[in-house]
Amino acid sequence: MTTSVSAVTRRELVAIVGDDHVLTDRDLTAGYEVDWTGRFRGSTPLVVRPGSTAEVAAVVQLCARRSVALVLQGGNTGLVGGSVPLAGEVVLSTRRLSGVVDVDADAGRLTAGSGTTIAAVQTAARDAGWAYGVDWAARGSATLGGSVATNAGGLRVVRYGSTRAQVLGVEAVLGSGAVLDDLGRLDKDATGFDLSGLLCGSEGTLGVITAARLRLVPHQPDRAVTVVGLRSLEAAVAAVGQLRRVLPGLEAAEAYRAAESELVARHLDVAPILRPAPPITLVVECAGSGGQADLLASAVDSLDDVIDAVIADDGPRRASLWRHREALTEAIATLGPHHKLDVSLPVGALGQFAEEVVMRVKVAAPQSATWIFGHLGDGNLHVNVTGVAPDDDAVDDAVLSLVLDHRGSISAEHGVGAAKRAWVARQRGPTAMGAMRAIKGALDPHGVLNPNVLL
Ligand SMILES: Cc1cc2nc3c(=O)[nH]c(=O)nc-3n(C[C@H](O)[C@H](O)[C@H](O)COP(=O)(O)OP(=O)(O)OC[C@H]3O[C@@H](n4cnc5c(N)ncnc54)[C@H](O)[C@@H]3O)c2cc1C
Repeated sequence: MTTSVSAVTRRELVAIVGDDHVLTDRDLTAGYEVDWTGRFRGSTPLVVRPGSTAEVAAVVQLCARRSVALVLQGGNTGLVGGSVPLAGEVVLSTRRLSGVVDVDADAGRLTAGSGTTIAAVQTAARDAGWAYGVDWAARGSATLGGSVATNAGGLRVVRYGSTRAQVLGVEAVLGSGAVLDDLGRLDKDATGFDLSGLLCGSEGTLGVITAARLRLVPHQPDRAVTVVGLRSLEAAVAAVGQLRRVLPGLEAAEAYRAAESELVARHLDVAPILRPAPPITLVVECAGSGGQADLLASAVDSLDDVIDAVIADDGPRRASLWRHREALTEAIATLGPHHKLDVSLPVGALGQFAEEVVMRVKVAAPQSATWIFGHLGDGNLHVNVTGVAPDDDAVDDAVLSLVLDHRGSISAEHGVGAAKRAWVARQRGPTAMGAMRAIKGALDPHGVLNPNVLL
C-alpha cells in the first residue's frame, strides 16, 4: 500500500465524485487530519467525499487497483485515533451519504445513510412515534456509519444494548470493492453468517458502511432523573444492582467522582449538583408510560448509605442534572490532549480497579492527573489521563495491563483504533487473532481499508 497519490489517480477520483469533492487544499483538509481529542494528528494528500454507494465502490476499486490506502471518516468524533490519516492515507469521508431513507412506523424500523448524524436518526424516530435506543453526548456530529463501525454504546446500553443490538442489516462496500446489500435482513433470519453483525465493530477494516437498517424502541413519554451522592464506587455498584432489580424502566446509570464533579462545575461555571461534592455522584434515569418520579423516589429511598439525592421529572430540570455528566468529556478536553482509556470490568472488580488505577498512573507518570467516570450499569469506566505527552504510552500500558489483570476488556465501546492495537492480541489470544486476520484477508484482500486500525 502506498500513501502517495499520483496526478492520474487524483484525476480518476475527480472523475468519480466531481472536482468539488476531492479536497487537496490544506485549509480544507486540516480538519480531517486531527481527531477530537487532539492526541492523534496525521496528514493526508487528499480527502475524497463520495455521494453514493456506487461512488464509494468506484473509489474503493480504484484505490485497490492503484494500491492507495484509505482511512474512513464519519463525524470524526472517535476517541482512539481510528479515523485520522496517521500514516498519510487518503481520507474517505462518508458525510455526504446522509439522510433518512425510510421509516417503517408499523414495524419500528428506520433505514438511513451512513453519514446521517445520530441526532437526525433520533429525530426521525421520534417523528414516527418511536425512539432510537442509542444515545451519547456526541450525537450532533457522530454518524450512523461511525457508530456501527465502532459498535458505539453510550448512555442507554443498560436498557437497550449497544449499537449492534439495534442493527438489523447494513449495506457496505467491502475492501474488494463489491457491494454487500444486507439491508433486507429480517428479525428472524437464520440464513448463513450474520455479515451485518460482523461489520458492526469492525472499525472500517472490512468495508465502508454506506447505510444501515435499525430497530427502533418504544417512545417512553414519562421520565425521571435522580442524582445520588454515595460514599464509594462499591456502594454505587451495589446501588445500581438494587435499582436494576426494582426499576424495569431503568435507562441509564452513570457515575463520576468528586474530582470530576468539581472539574465539570468549574467548566460550566456553576456549583456541583450536590454540595459538598460526594465521593461518588450517581446519575440514574428511568422512563416509562407514567409514574416514573414516584417509582424512582421510592427506589432511591430503599438504597443504603445515600449521602444526598435530588430528583427531577420535568424536562429542563432533568437536562440540568444531565448537563454535568454530559459535559465531562468536554471539560477534560479543556485540559489539553489527553489519553482516553475506555475499559470494562466485571462489576465486582470496579471499585478496586478505580483505586488501583490512580496509583498505577501516578507511578507511570507522576506529573499526570487521572479523571474517571463511566457507564456504571455496563461495568464501563472511562479513565482519562491529562498532563502526559500524546505519544507517551507508559500510561496506557499501566492502565491496560491492570484491566487484563482484572479480566476486563481494553475497549468497552470506543474500539481499538490506532491507540490500542498493541493490546488486542493480549486480550483476544492467537486463535481469535488468526480468525480476525483471515476475515480481513477475505473481505479486504488488497488491504486498502484502515490498514493501521485494529489489526
Ligand atoms: C463528547 C464525546 C462523547 C462520546 N461519548 C461516547 C459514548 O458515550 N459512547 C461511545 O460509544 N462513544 C462515545 N464517543 C465516541 C464517538 O462518538 C463514537 O465512537 C462514534 O461512534 C464515532 O462516530 P463517528 O461518525 O464520529 O466516527 P469516526 O470518528 O469518523 O470514525 C470512528 C471509526 O469508525 C470508522 N468509520 C467511520 N465511518 C465509517 C463507515 N461509514 N464505514 C466503516 N467504518 C467507518 C473510522 O474509520 C474509525 O475507525 C464520544 C465522543 C465524544 C467526542
